[in-house]
Amino acid sequence: MEMDVVELMESEVKRRVGELRQLLQHASYAYYVLDHPMMEDAVYDRLYRELQDLELQYPQLITADSPTQRVGETPATHFNSVRHNVSLYSLENAFNVEELQAWEQRCLRQAPNPGVAEYVCELKIDGSALALTYENGVLVRGLTRGDGVMGEDITQNVRTIRSIPLRLNLDGLENLGRVEVRGEAFLPLDVFEEINQERQKAGESLFANPRNAAAGTLRQLNPKIVAQRKLDFFAYTLHLPYLDEGEIVRNQWKSLDLLQRMGLKVNPNKCLCSSLQEVAEYYQQWDTERLNLPYMTDGVVVKINSSSLQTQLGFTQKFPRWAVALKYAAEEAPTRVEKITVNVGRTGAITPLAEMHPVQLAGTTVSRATLHNSVHIAQLDIRIGDTVIVRKAGEIIPEVVRVLTQLRPQDAQPFVMPTHCPVCGQPLVKPVDEAVTRCVNTSCPAILKGAIEHWVSRDVLDIRGIGEKVVQQLVDRGLVKSVADLYNLTVEQLCELEKMGEKLALKLVDAIANSKQQSWSRVLYGLGIRHVGNVTAQMLTKKFTTVEDLSHAKVTDITAIYGIGTEIASSVNQWFQSSANQGLITRLQAGGLQFATSSKEETVSDANPKFAGKTFVITGTLPTLKRNEAKELIQKAGGKVTDSVSKKTDYVVLGADAGCKLTKAEALGITLLDEAQLLEML
Ligand code: NAD
Repeated sequence: MEMDVVELMESEVKRRVGELRQLLQHASYAYYVLDHPMMEDAVYDRLYRELQDLELQYPQLITADSPTQRVGETPATHFNSVRHNVSLYSLENAFNVEELQAWEQRCLRQAPNPGVAEYVCELKIDGSALALTYENGVLVRGLTRGDGVMGEDITQNVRTIRSIPLRLNLDGLENLGRVEVRGEAFLPLDVFEEINQERQKAGESLFANPRNAAAGTLRQLNPKIVAQRKLDFFAYTLHLPYLDEGEIVRNQWKSLDLLQRMGLKVNPNKCLCSSLQEVAEYYQQWDTERLNLPYMTDGVVVKINSSSLQTQLGFTQKFPRWAVALKYAAEEAPTRVEKITVNVGRTGAITPLAEMHPVQLAGTTVSRATLHNSVHIAQLDIRIGDTVIVRKAGEIIPEVVRVLTQLRPQDAQPFVMPTHCPVCGQPLVKPVDEAVTRCVNTSCPAILKGAIEHWVSRDVLDIRGIGEKVVQQLVDRGLVKSVADLYNLTVEQLCELEKMGEKLALKLVDAIANSKQQSWSRVLYGLGIRHVGNVTAQMLTKKFTTVEDLSHAKVTDITAIYGIGTEIASSVNQWFQSSANQGLITRLQAGGLQFATSSKEETVSDANPKFAGKTFVITGTLPTLKRNEAKELIQKAGGKVTDSVSKKTDYVVLGADAGCKLTKAEALGITLLDEAQLLEML
């Protein structure tokens, strides 16, 4: 029996290894030969890592043609294939600081007495590697990396790159003989965009990224086109094979210096570090600062400085043991969909969710992503069991970008939208003109819970102390059947809830009573009318200063407000037609809630001339205000709040741990404000 399980697992692994190899081979071909990648680099890296891990666990499955066993790709056919004087290797990847530490440990095992620790950190330029040969100072040959042993002879094209000298400055080093230089040819971002714009105009296919554009350009048959494309070059390795290298260059740091003296361009953002801690700091610094560079980088390269230590460590079949590429956290990665569940929202909308094998993205673990609705599911063509690409950039909510259909298992199951609400069991409805399926049972506990959670939340009625657990119990015990019931709750009733003492119950009753002071616009927002968010509610209550005015308003009266269209107006109009909703308002009015704009509110909402027409961005954690609160204050004063810093931003409000937005704001010279300064302006 046990044997069967093992065999089954092995055949499963074998199948996956086969799938991965095939997909990675296709991807490599598309990437290296066609210069037209079929997937994102980070996705390729993760799938590659999965294959590597499986091969490590099951070495019997390794084959010579596995993508893990080769460097680069066989040279394309247009150019002559030439053997490199010194082979070109790839770099081992590390995806976080822990993996960097593991790399150091491996080095230490191999070279137990390394002496002083010194690491050279360089930016990993996302371009295409070049091998240049100089004889007696004159450029005689330029090759692509190819498979590392054989490269393509693209000398004619290399000669068009302005930053590659045709003759080296060998002042004092005249007898060097043959010099080999390695470096990265790349396209600056603005040039890349220009090229793509031109290609678009000419109806040609676009380059996916600057790296592919650089590689494609280098392999152009017409050097004139290459010359127009303004490639640039940074040198990072120097080989002096016919001399005792030790005499001149004893380490990488000095090599870089010498390359520069010879007239080559070396990236200025290098750093000599004396501990891994310093390396980690350099990596963190460049993870944000890279956004301000005029070219793409995809990580940092860490090299052991000492040449003798490098020699001692040597090479594996694919890469030097003395160097590692520390890549930036991926914003996209492949993972497998384990199931698709549905969630019932406060508007009754049924939202399918992809529940995925957890994956690290942009520094957080992602295991769920919304699939929005059945139309979106059909567009994605997603099935349970599929491998999908998920994306999460910064603070953005994770999303499934697409499905890798090549990795679809035979038993992958399509998702079927339930016909009945998973919470109340009532039939679900999908209006023909809408993508969303809904539960329309107004007493569905899921809808009720959602409505109450919305009502009590901070930027609505702000009733502190009523969290998800309390709401669940209030609804499940039948104590609250509508938000109006909150205002009849007694201390005794609350005391019956789990983990609720008298003191806490008293506090809650107080908090509920205090919410009666909240403004008419917050109450309106709290009612949960479709399409009426925070800002729309403020716009509506400014014009319709009482609930009576609003409930009698015709659609055209509402659309007369600048910025409000018919969709919102009809939704508001319809909401007030319902007798159940009118009943709710009557009860809430009787409970003492605000249904008219107070004179105090009117003066606050008057625009402040310092804010009118100005755009603000809030970043980092503010000392006392929540982001939403700061946003609301700015909006009330007539300012606009956006998410990203651009030339159009007037002020950046800065809190603790502000990240790249600060760097960008500084680069653009935008006025920075702290919370105190903002409040003073207000
Ligand atoms: P790599 O790009 O990860 O790292 C090695 C290369 O880094 C070197 O060859 C060199 O060109 C470059 N480099 C840049 N700055 C450097 C510096 N300062 N010092 C030393 N080297 C520096 O490895 P690779 O073998 O060239 O390519 C593999 C990568 O290609 C994968 O990580 C993957 O992201 C990508 N790839 C993507 C696809 C796809 O479908 N998207 C397919 C195949 C490969």
